[in-house]
Amino acid sequence: MEHPVHELPTAPGESFWEKLYLPEIARGLGHTLKHMVNTLFGKPFTVQYPEQKLGLKPGYRGIIRLTKDAEGREKCVACFLCATACPAECIRIVAEPAPAAWKDRDKRPAQFELNFLRCINCGFCEEACPCEAIELIEEYFPVGTTRQEFIWDKAKLLSIDGRRNKPLEPARRT
Ligand code: SF4
Ligand code: SF4
Repeated sequence: MEHPVHELPTAPGESFWEKLYLPEIARGLGHTLKHMVNTLFGKPFTVQYPEQKLGLKPGYRGIIRLTKDAEGREKCVACFLCATACPAECIRIVAEPAPAAWKDRDKRPAQFELNFLRCINCGFCEEACPCEAIELIEEYFPVGTTRQEFIWDKAKLLSIDGRRNKPLEPARRT
């Protein structure tokens, strides 16, 4: 009884070497070897964060902060636009009337809470804000061991220093 001859599956136009697959296997092994050498002797892929940190790329959008005006007051006017735009529902605002001496606004946030455990760094809050009162900066996200450490109040959000992220490119806004 004759057995059928099994041929290697080929795509149209494949060369002899491509049909053999050996060069591709060797190339794959070379790639793996390169990463092994990099892991053992080169720049590490992972580090012991937060003690060690890899450099941030320009445009990194990390921690969120509230900004102040020239008089040191929060710029936020408690309009709720950021909280409305936030897809992760991580902003909680309680508004109150602004002090009578503040002639440029009617309201201000009595409470402003941001839950970094929920935040996905999308930047929608910054885009939605009409007062440039909230922004993402080039700083690492907070670390902590309790949930409460990731929920920052108004005072903490106003106290954050750091390099301001560049405004989002129009292409990234779409
Ligand atoms: S960056 Fe996105 S997820 Fe985080 S608070 Fe702003 S809108 Fe919400
Ligand atoms: S941060 Fe901006 S968008 Fe959010 S409530 Fe304050 S003023 Fe409105």
